[in-house]
Amino acid sequence: MSHSSISHAPAQAPSSPRHPFDLQGRVALVTGCNTGIGAGIAVALAQAGADIVGLNRSDASQTAAQVQALGRRFVPIQADLSRTEAMADVLAQVLAAAGQVDILVNNAGIIRRADALDFSEEDWDAVMNTNLKSLFFLSQAVARHMLDCAAQQGAQWRGGKIIHIASLLSFQGGVRVPSYTAAKSGVLGLTRLMANEWAAKGINVNAIAPGYIETNNTEALRQDAGRAGEILQRIPAGRWGQPADLGGAAVFLASSAADYVHGHTLAVDGGWLAR
Ligand code: NAD
Repeated sequence: MSHSSISHAPAQAPSSPRHPFDLQGRVALVTGCNTGIGAGIAVALAQAGADIVGLNRSDASQTAAQVQALGRRFVPIQADLSRTEAMADVLAQVLAAAGQVDILVNNAGIIRRADALDFSEEDWDAVMNTNLKSLFFLSQAVARHMLDCAAQQGAQWRGGKIIHIASLLSFQGGVRVPSYTAAKSGVLGLTRLMANEWAAKGINVNAIAPGYIETNNTEALRQDAGRAGEILQRIPAGRWGQPADLGGAAVFLASSAADYVHGHTLAVDGGWLAR
């Protein structure tokens, strides 16, 4: 090979990923990543090369240490997503600290359990505000920011990815969790609506529906030996999931490998919905 052919070989653009799942150079905003599924997803995205902005109510130093051990940046942001009025302010705080958001993972969520006959308005509002209203308005703020990036960067802009964490109760009714079922069914609908409005603008909106995962969210279920046994028996994979089980789906949906995937809710459930 001549010297000139080497010097004229097309250089790889610094912004184009080497591998379709490579997230190097991407900044991912992950809500509620101090523990559980959010922590599993933040670490998986960092393993694939992304820097992480962790939006949490409380200390996320354990996740920060795991992300930093992978050689990635972890930017901590403190915010309470039950306060739905402040999503534009929250994003301003994120952008001041991190500059740009390429990937949003709406993971933060809570659950309240009581019979539908007794369910309180307080438990309704708490879950709907955190799991659905904040998810919508944070997505709106991030999508506006992504479209500003698109306008400023033109052909250099690599597109935006929004991933919501849905649930099996996006597909099924559940029992004793009315506001959670309403919110997570709403998340599936909003995933489709946002995809319909934003797909042509270069933003992919998709969701992941975790099955039964061992986190704080399912502690009460796991302590009820009868319920825990019934659940385990019904999972084709024969085990509960771990937070790390969600990592692959998150990396896929955050990456250019998913550029033509829009409005889909991907179950990662050990086969539960196939049953
Ligand atoms: P978890 O309780 O361990 O984590 C929930 C996260 O959300 C925590 O980081 C918490 O601090 C954060 N959060 C809650 N309220 C917040 C607020 N007001 N402001 C900021 N952050 C807040 O539970 P998890 O199972 O890891 O849950 C993560 C997501 O996965 C939730 O949306 C949950 O509904 C969903 N999910 C969980 C399961 C499961 O089996 N564990 C199944 C389906 C869906």
